[in-house]
Amino acid sequence: MADVVVAGGGPAGAACALVLARSGFDVTVLERARFPRRKVCGEYLNIGAVAALDELGVGERVRELAQPLLGVRLIPPGLDPVELRFPAPALALARETLDEILLNAAAAAGARVERARVEDLSYANGRFTGVVARDEAGTMATYPARFVVGADGSGSLVARKLGLVRPSRGARRFALGGHYRGFGDLGGYIEMYVGAGAYFALNPLDGERVNVMVVVRDVQLAEWSQAVDEGMRGKAAELGRGRRSFAAAERIGSRVSFGPLAFDVHGVVRPGAYLAGDAGGFLNPFTGQGVYLALRGGADAGEAIARTFAQPAREAAYAAGYETRRMRDFAVRRRLSHVVDLLVDVPLLARRAAARLQRFPELGETLLGALGGAVSPERGLSPALLGRLLV
Ligand SMILES: Cc1cc2nc3c(=O)[nH]c(=O)nc-3n(C[C@H](O)[C@H](O)[C@H](O)COP(=O)(O)OP(=O)(O)OC[C@H]3O[C@@H](n4cnc5c(N)ncnc54)[C@H](O)[C@@H]3O)c2cc1C
Repeated sequence: MADVVVAGGGPAGAACALVLARSGFDVTVLERARFPRRKVCGEYLNIGAVAALDELGVGERVRELAQPLLGVRLIPPGLDPVELRFPAPALALARETLDEILLNAAAAAGARVERARVEDLSYANGRFTGVVARDEAGTMATYPARFVVGADGSGSLVARKLGLVRPSRGARRFALGGHYRGFGDLGGYIEMYVGAGAYFALNPLDGERVNVMVVVRDVQLAEWSQAVDEGMRGKAAELGRGRRSFAAAERIGSRVSFGPLAFDVHGVVRPGAYLAGDAGGFLNPFTGQGVYLALRGGADAGEAIARTFAQPAREAAYAAGYETRRMRDFAVRRRLSHVVDLLVDVPLLARRAAARLQRFPELGETLLGALGGAVSPERGLSPALLGRLLV
C-alpha cells in the first residue's frame, strides 16, 4: 500500500507529490495524459507562482526556459491602453514545458508516476482508502493508499466521488485559443482587450510564439456553432480594434478550447482524502492566479499529510487546518474575481477603472500584488481601493 496516491500530475499534483516524496513518503501519481501535454491556459506565471517554483526547487530551470514579463497592458473599450507593471518579475512559459519540469522533479524526488485514468475511489470503514484506475492498456487496477489526493483539475472526478461538488454561480464562459506567430512585438507585456462580457488576451511566450486566448459567454459560442475560428477572429478584431488581429497571424499546432470556466466545491477534505488545485475550485482565469494557487495548495496538502504521518492522533486537526486555509483564501479570491468579472461585463465600469488606473498606478500594483500573492488578497478588496477604482 502506498502512503499517498495522487490523481492528476498537473501543478497541484506534482507539487504535492514532490513535497511528500522529498520527505521520504511512498507516493504514486496517476496521470491520464501522456506528457508533455497541452493545457488550456494563458501561461502567465504570476509573482506568487515564481516564488512557489523557487521553493519547490525548480525556479532556476523554469527561468532558463521562460520569458520574463514586465506587466499587463489593459485595453478597455474606447480607451488608450493602461500599463500596469508587475511589482516583481513574472514569467511566461508554455504549460507543456512547465508541467513536465514539475512532474519530472516529483519523479526525481522518488514519486512513482504512472499513466492511468482514475475512475473511482475505494472506501472502507469510514474513510477513502485508494483509487481505481484504468491504465493505457485498458486494465483496471486498485491503488490502495493511506491518503488520496484529488489534483485532477477543474471538473474533478475525485471531487465528485467525494461528494464535494456544488453548483457554480456566475456567467458561463468558454475559452478558445492556441499558440500563434505573427501578432507582432508585445514588448514583454501581456495584452488584455476587454469588452462587454468577453476578452482577448495575448501573452508573449518567446520572440516568436504568442499565447492567444479569446474568452466568450456560452451563448456567443453557440451562435458561432460550426464557424468557431471565424467567430474567434471576429471577436478578436472587434476587441483589438486594429491594434492586434489575427490578420497576419498563423497558428502553431492545434486550436484549444475549455469550458465552462467554472467549478466549485463546498469542502476540500474528507476522511483519508484531500482536494488540491482546480479540483478544489476554479477561479476566473482572467485573474491569472490558477498556477500559483495550484502550486501552493498542492504543497500545503502534501505538508498537512506529512504532518499527519508524524502525528496520526492530530489527523483531524491537520485536515481541518488545510480546509480552513483553503476555503477562507478562496472566499476572498472569489469576491475579487467577481469584481474583475464586473469590470469585464460592464463597459462603463471598465472605462472608469481604466481611467483611475491610468492616474493612480499604485492601485494596479496593489491589485496585481493581491492576485499574485505579493500582498494579502484582502488588500485587493479593501473599500479604500475599490472606492478609488470604481466610485
Ligand atoms: C482559459 C484559461 C486560461 C488560464 N490562464 C492562466 C494563466 O495565465 N495563469 C495561471 O496561473 N492560471 C491560468 N489558468 C488556470 C490554470 O490553468 C489552472 O488553475 C491550473 O492548471 C490548475 O492546476 P491543477 O494542477 O490544479 O490542474 P490541471 O493543470 O488541470 O492538471 C490536472 C491534471 O490531472 C489530469 N487528470 C484529470 N482527470 C484525471 C483522471 N481522472 N485521472 C488521472 N489524471 C487526470 C489531467 O490530465 C491534468 O494533467 C487558466 C485556465 C484557463 C481555463
